Amino acid sequence: MLAAKRLQPDLRRNRMRMISELIARGIKDSAVLAAMESVKRHLFVEEAMQAEAYGDFPLPIGFGQTISQPYVVALMSELLEAEPGMKVLEIGTGSGYQAAVLAEMGLDVYSVERIAPLYFRTADLLRSLSYYRIGMKLDDGTMGWPEESPFERIIVTAGGPEIPQPLVDQLADPGVMLIPVGEKQRRQQLVRLEKREGKILEHNFGPVSFVNLVGSHGWRP
Ligand code: SAH
Repeated sequence: MLAAKRLQPDLRRNRMRMISELIARGIKDSAVLAAMESVKRHLFVEEAMQAEAYGDFPLPIGFGQTISQPYVVALMSELLEAEPGMKVLEIGTGSGYQAAVLAEMGLDVYSVERIAPLYFRTADLLRSLSYYRIGMKLDDGTMGWPEESPFERIIVTAGGPEIPQPLVDQLADPGVMLIPVGEKQRRQQLVRLEKREGKILEHNFGPVSFVNLVGSHGWRP
């Protein structure tokens, strides 16, 4: 028991420090804070990096991809303005951390990843953590998930040159999408797109830095 504890520390203190820092940076949504308090972020990174998992920076997760920094996960989760039970589509499953946070917020999560080994690794991890209800698909997420649409919320965790039209089409009305967009790779703005009574409203939330959204409606592979 003691040995097991030493091998897999809970890192609860680190997690609580992360939550205090998020509050200090302006995150207010109690559902977001509670979800990030309960999800053990260190289980979503490689073992050698677990001690650093609660610092406010992105970390590599293999295959040239990264887990987003806690503040960006919190900000996007808050800007979604989601209610429990809503159907949300995530593009870019990556480590599965954002998906787990959304699931803890009571959302009905569907997540798409394009890199096969990452998809399988994360599917195993989410299953081992009992997130059985997160729907997962290995595909080009810029095409959305038409069979499961419409989605009341869409969150894209990789940045492309444009807002993929299939995602706009699969967004419910009313609905909210969060997506990093940039005409140049690595120069992105966080855009909140709202669909209401057939109209599309866009609001810019400033510069962000995500890995590339690669696909038919993203950067070419
Ligand atoms: N939400 C993730 C962030 C991972 S980084 C997390 O919490 O860890 C972004 C991910 O988007 C990468 O895994 C990358 O492979 C994936 N991605 C990029 N383009 C994609 C596309 N067209 N469809 C699906 N996933 C994509």
